[in-house]
Amino acid sequence: MNCDDSVIYLPAYLDEELGVAESLRVQKHLTECGDCRQTQVEQLALRSALRDPDLYAHLSVDFSERIEAAVRRAAQEEARPQRPSWFELFRLGSFQWFPAAAALVIMTAIGAFFVMNRLQSSHDQLIASAVLTGHIRSLQPGHLIDVPSSDRHTVKPWFQGKLDFSPPVPDLSELGWNLVGGRLDYVDGRPVAVLVYQRRMHNINVFLWPNHSAADDTIKEEDAQGYQILHWNGAETTYWVVSDLNNPELLEFARALRGH
Ligand SMILES: [Zn+2]
Repeated sequence: MNCDDSVIYLPAYLDEELGVAESLRVQKHLTECGDCRQTQVEQLALRSALRDPDLYAHLSVDFSERIEAAVRRAAQEEARPQRPSWFELFRLGSFQWFPAAAALVIMTAIGAFFVMNRLQSSHDQLIASAVLTGHIRSLQPGHLIDVPSSDRHTVKPWFQGKLDFSPPVPDLSELGWNLVGGRLDYVDGRPVAVLVYQRRMHNINVFLWPNHSAADDTIKEEDAQGYQILHWNGAETTYWVVSDLNNPELLEFARALRGH
């Protein structure tokens, strides 16, 4: 294990989420590498600081009530019947079977479409939460960047040999978006490239990997825990952009990146 891997595995190691073999590899690396031990010490310090009870925010009654109301609304929507019952189809006379069968085929197709749509979006939800976690993890000391450089000719080759694809690394500095470096991360069961750009004090993480689904460069937006998450599928590359930058500026960034 080298330092790059160690940095990726360390949070999971500290959370005791790794298997025995990986834990031992991290442990071995930590005994041999002072830098990574230092990172470990910093992370442990941060963790114990975050356990400070003063940081704990108690939910207001109003907030809990709003969540409960939203859950009730969602449950009611779920409970609403969405298709005629089997009973209604069966009680039709035999002369009506042809249209009924046709209707059944159509409904099955519609049902499958909804299921597929749902799967797609719940898969997207999983990725959204993975990139958000990656973004938050990257804000811990020493985690943001593996290759600190504003030069795309340094950042792009750095990924060579570490990934099975070569990520595009656009220079957007003329538009006021400064590249500060790149790193490896792990999303959706695969290693991915992350480019880090900055505007003022805001870090922007761009997670990217090869797109194997249909290209759709409509930018989808989502906000969670005070962060903006933008996503689109380019012809060759899937993009997920996460930042605490305000929405209009981040959209401007995403359009610049997409157009590049
Ligand atoms: Zn190391």
